[in-house]
Amino acid sequence: MATHTESPSDVATADELPWPTDDERTLLVEGLRYVLDGRWRSVRERVREQSDRSDLLPDPSRTLSEAREHTLEVMRQLAEQGFAAAGFAADHGGTGDIGGSITAIEMLGYADLSLMVKAGVQWGLFGGAIDNLGTARHHDRYVADIIGLDILGCFAMTETGHGSNVQALETTATYDRDTGEFVINSPTPSSRKDYIGGAAAHARVAAVFAQLITGGPDEDPTGRGVHCFVVPIRDDDGDDLPGVTTGDCGHKGGLAGVDNGRIVFDHVRIPAENLLNRYGDVEADGTYTSPIENSDRRFFTMLGTLIRGRVSVAATAGAAGRKALTLATRYGLLRKQFEAPDETDEIIVLDYLAHQRKLLPLIAKSYAIACTQNELTAELHDLQTGAADDPDGVRQRELESDAAGLKAYATWHASHTINVCREACGGAGYLDENQLPILRGDIDVFTTFEGDNTVLTQLVAKELLSAYAEDVQGLSATGWVRFVAEMARDVVVEKTAARQVVQTLLESSDDDPEKSPLTDRGTQIRLFRNREDHLVRTCAQRLRRALDDDNDAFEVFNNAQDHLLKVGQARTERMVLEAFIGAIEDCDSRSAAELLGTVCDLFVYSALEDDLSWFLMHRHVSVERAKAIRRGVNELCRELRPHIGSLVDAFGIPEALLAAPMLTHG
Ligand SMILES: Cc1cc2nc3c(=O)[nH]c(=O)nc-3n(C[C@H](O)[C@H](O)[C@H](O)COP(=O)(O)OP(=O)(O)OC[C@H]3O[C@@H](n4cnc5c(N)ncnc54)[C@H](O)[C@@H]3O)c2cc1C
Repeated sequence: MATHTESPSDVATADELPWPTDDERTLLVEGLRYVLDGRWRSVRERVREQSDRSDLLPDPSRTLSEAREHTLEVMRQLAEQGFAAAGFAADHGGTGDIGGSITAIEMLGYADLSLMVKAGVQWGLFGGAIDNLGTARHHDRYVADIIGLDILGCFAMTETGHGSNVQALETTATYDRDTGEFVINSPTPSSRKDYIGGAAAHARVAAVFAQLITGGPDEDPTGRGVHCFVVPIRDDDGDDLPGVTTGDCGHKGGLAGVDNGRIVFDHVRIPAENLLNRYGDVEADGTYTSPIENSDRRFFTMLGTLIRGRVSVAATAGAAGRKALTLATRYGLLRKQFEAPDETDEIIVLDYLAHQRKLLPLIAKSYAIACTQNELTAELHDLQTGAADDPDGVRQRELESDAAGLKAYATWHASHTINVCREACGGAGYLDENQLPILRGDIDVFTTFEGDNTVLTQLVAKELLSAYAEDVQGLSATGWVRFVAEMARDVVVEKTAARQVVQTLLESSDDDPEKSPLTDRGTQIRLFRNREDHLVRTCAQRLRRALDDDNDAFEVFNNAQDHLLKVGQARTERMVLEAFIGAIEDCDSRSAAELLGTVCDLFVYSALEDDLSWFLMHRHVSVERAKAIRRGVNELCRELRPHIGSLVDAFGIPEALLAAPMLTHG
């Protein structure tokens, strides 16, 4: 726990601060890295060794086509190193180390985000669809070839007309009883598959999401909702197959090494067995069957199994943010500007409070996010490998919500962080040779793909407000708002109990946060929890207006959308704080735990500072305390200044991947 107080008079000057000796520093870095590396630390070590090569870095001088070919070539090397098998279930031909595979993908964020995305599309999305939505006939036929890159695939969900609202996709897959085939068709211009990674050049096969239309002997063919089909799109020479028209999205804001493209289907026939039939099947006579009766629940169950992509995107964004912070911090420790009073030398820019304030709160938040990510990866691993019991499926729903929240929180953070780091390196930060502009372009779309961040944050809030009730996922905004409005309870209570350490800290702090010091961890948790509870309660009250006959339910929902988004953000930030506290609690190194305590304080103080207007407006902090929060951020930055180099070294980014000429001359 930090030892600083709320008073500015206690601020130490840089010279008075205790600077660690070299030995202390080595120990600290080791202790911090142990925490950050988490359960799959051996995977991280292996990837570190294998990726310590600067030829993995993106090279902006490559043409689009060269960049794409290079990415594919490096993917082939990865395939030979055996990482891909981890993501597939052991009885499907993989090794079933889900956590290990997410961690390995995350580590690619230190090298090249194009590589991460292309590998993620092949093994995570395309492979994940086959692994999770297919059955034995698909596993036997495809998994080994997907792992070994003998089949290159793409994941064709999004259409020009629909990205976020996947239930409204327009591509159709109509069963033809006479031939025992599905006919895949793009009936409208807006049903064109769009932005699909791999579709522009390399993919030979697509996992296509389409509306399944079929009927049994005595039924009219009807829509059965979105299902996934394996559709060959190119021949061995790379030419489009009959009825398939692919296109190229061309130059983008980043990710030059990923060949994003478009696909249009004109009555393309595929055999019936190409339906990935784990959750829905069609018999030879056209009869539709499914183990899940309710079509909404079936759809969301299918999507839920694909959650790994979202978790990997969050993890990689975390890595990209840490890389930018390492580059900017090292530069800030070298770079000097303006003379110091009474000195001939100039001042190191990281000795300026303004510069510390730029980087240190972001480093603190990166630590908090990294610890939360480790926890989420482990939970997903345990659920998907059957190590954790979830008989009623509640944990799966919570995990989906946590993954949505963290994906939005981590990718927004990474995007913002990389931009700040670019600026923190002045003109040098703008040169491609120093990596930051490339990283900035590449990270940008992480806030959009694998779920648009606004839509995901709303999803977190909706789940929380409806207390993970079954069968609300498919409701329209109007249906959902009526459901919430009619819920009997005044306040939606968390279903999961707080972790032990959080419970203990809460019990040892005063119920009224204003009466106990802000440095007290229990008080900090209480402030975050109180914000969330307040927002949930008041949002529920606003939504209850939907019951009034004079009010239009959609309008009530829409008028409260800002409120709803704030609920989602507050909930995720509270989750991040508590996961960080949990990780510190588990840290065996005393010096590392102490430093992490201060980092955690800075995370809390800067999060409070960022939302100070809300806390003041709703009287969760007094004006005096608000001032103390601002001073506290300054104090904590100064306190952490001697450790800033250790804090970024602990990320353990391979040195070759941090190649930047600005770091050799300052
Ligand atoms: C580089 C790249 C790679 C991609 N790779 C793939 C891939 O391999 N496979 C694949 O299937 N897809 C892929 N995508 C598509 C991606 O998943 C979608 O772009 C994403 O889901 C968002 O959908 P959209 O583009 O239709 O945006 P929209 O959903 O139209 O969103 C546009 C804006 O509207 C807002 N909005 C939408 N709904 C709401 C709402 N209810 N309330 C408030 N605001 C709302 C959003 O916040 C956003 O700001 C990729 C996209 C890109 C750019």
